[in-house]
Parts: sequence; C-alpha cells; structure tokens
Amino acid sequence: MNTSTDPTTRAPIIRTVADLRGAVAALRAEGRTIGFVPTMGALHDGHLSLVRRAAEGGAAVVVSIFVNPTQFAANEDLSKYPRDERGDVEKLTAAGAELVFCPTPDQIYPDGFSTTVMVDGPSQGLEGQIRPTHFAGVATVVAKLLLMVRPDRVVFGQKDAQQVAVVRRLMRDLHMDEIEMVVAPTVREADGLAMSSRNAYLSPDERTRSLALWRGLEAARAAAAGGERDADTLQRVAHAELAAQQGITVDYVRLVDADTFQPMKTLDRDGVLCVAARVGHTRLIDNAPLSPGASH
Ligand code: AMP
Repeated sequence: MNTSTDPTTRAPIIRTVADLRGAVAALRAEGRTIGFVPTMGALHDGHLSLVRRAAEGGAAVVVSIFVNPTQFAANEDLSKYPRDERGDVEKLTAAGAELVFCPTPDQIYPDGFSTTVMVDGPSQGLEGQIRPTHFAGVATVVAKLLLMVRPDRVVFGQKDAQQVAVVRRLMRDLHMDEIEMVVAPTVREADGLAMSSRNAYLSPDERTRSLALWRGLEAARAAAAGGERDADTLQRVAHAELAAQQGITVDYVRLVDADTFQPMKTLDRDGVLCVAARVGHTRLIDNAPLSPGASH
C-alpha cells in the first residue's frame, strides 16, 4: 500500500481512494471499529475535539483533509483557504487519529464526474440562500466520503448547524442507517469566539469586533433562559448586540427548527438561533441551540 509516513511517528497520509479502502480494511481485519471526521484542514481545537469524540470506545479514527472545491462559489475563498498539511497531521496524530486521507481533487472528482447530491429541505434558507451551490457541494462530498470510508461513526461540529441538518437528512434519505452520526458541541476561544479556520483572516481589530456574534447569542440565550419564547423577540435581542458593534454587516439572525431549519415563530421545541455576519472581508457564522426547557 502506498502511504507516506512522515516521520514514522505520524499517522500515515493516504492520497488515493484505493489506498484508503485498503487501510480501512486492514483496521477492520484487526477487529477495529472506524470513526470518521471529515475536515478541510487548517485544524484547531474544535476539529481535534471531534477526533477525540470519534475515538471513544476504541474506534480507529480516519480524518479526511480536503478543501472541497464544489462547496465554494466562484467569488469565495477557495484559493486562499488556509492550508497546513504538515501541522495538521502532527495535531491529528497527537489527538489519536490513525489515518489521514488527503486526496487531490482528481481523486474525488475524476474526469467525467457527473453526479450531484442535492438535499432539499434543510438546505433552503440561511446559508443555502446566501451560498446557493454550497450545500450541494457539501452533500456530494460527504456522501462520497462516507461511501469510501464506510465508518461506524461520523462526527460533525454543531458550529455548522445547518450542515448538520443537511447531512442528517442526507443520511436518513440514503438509508445510511448503519452509520452513527454524532454532533459535537462548538469549541470556543476563552472569550467566546467560535473557533474557525477562517478566524486566521481576521486582523486584531476585526477579531475584537467579531465578539459581537457571541454577545448576541449569549443575550438571546439569557432571554430564552428567562422564559422568552417569541422568535422575533429572541432575534431582536441578538441583533441588537450585533447592530451595536460598528464595522459588522449582519447577513441574518434567525431562530430555526433544529431538524428542518424552517423558521420558528415560537420556541416551543428544539431550535437553533443562527447568526452570520461579515467582518471586513471575512464571513463568520455561529449559533446557539435553544430549547423551551432548561437553557443550554
Ligand atoms: P471544516 O474544516 O471547517 O469543514 O470543519 C470540519 C468539521 O469541524 C465540521 O464538522 C465542523 O462543524 C467542525 N468544526 C469546525 N469548527 C468547530 C468548532 N469551533 N467546534 C466544533 N466543531 C467545529
């Protein structure tokens, strides 16, 4: 099998689908179960928390690092998306990953590739409205990766709440019942900013301004914990924090059903308050799960 180990203490890097299949089969032959974490690299502690979650119970963890071109629109940051394969593999090894799959785009999208997986429902609205081709790209690559790895468990981050809803729908609709889907909580910096590979784009001043997203979510969370159930009011409370911060352009502040991503009028079931804002040239998203019971 053609894997490059760099040096020997690091998890092997696999570059082809055939080698990935062989390496996973070898782990299965040893009686291991397989946990899988898809990523786009430029890894931070949020990603590593997913790796640790995937490893629970002794599973061998496969991590993919693939900056998926089909989920970026022409005007987005595909070419400048941060990349650090060497650093990523070191972090993944330390976190306990056993295989790192770093395919080239032609491995994933060979000549003649013609299939797109479109998930309707939760792909509509919010990110789906602002980035109309994004979730088809996500759904297509996630479906492909799940079929290549065939894990027992796949772990996603709550940070990308709409992606979670889209993938959950995809896995149900395509009968991927044998794969357990786990959603891990959002990991934050000490001051509340959600960790994101895109935070690397922020200047120090923009980094400070970005905290308005967290303040907005916290204000709404406090209101919900205090008994507020009206979606408009919860959205207004969060929006006020964002509007009070100069140098931020709000794309949306919306309370949606956690599963369907349809707008909610009243917080009478599990919901997610989603925010998206532009800070300089950087677009940030964040969310707070809210429920009518106890606060989160
Ligand atoms: P990405 O590399 O940005 O595509 O993210 C790969 C996975 O990591 C996705 O499931 C994300 O939701 C998850 N993720 C990204 N940031 C965080 C975070 N701050 N906390 C938890 N999970 C995260």
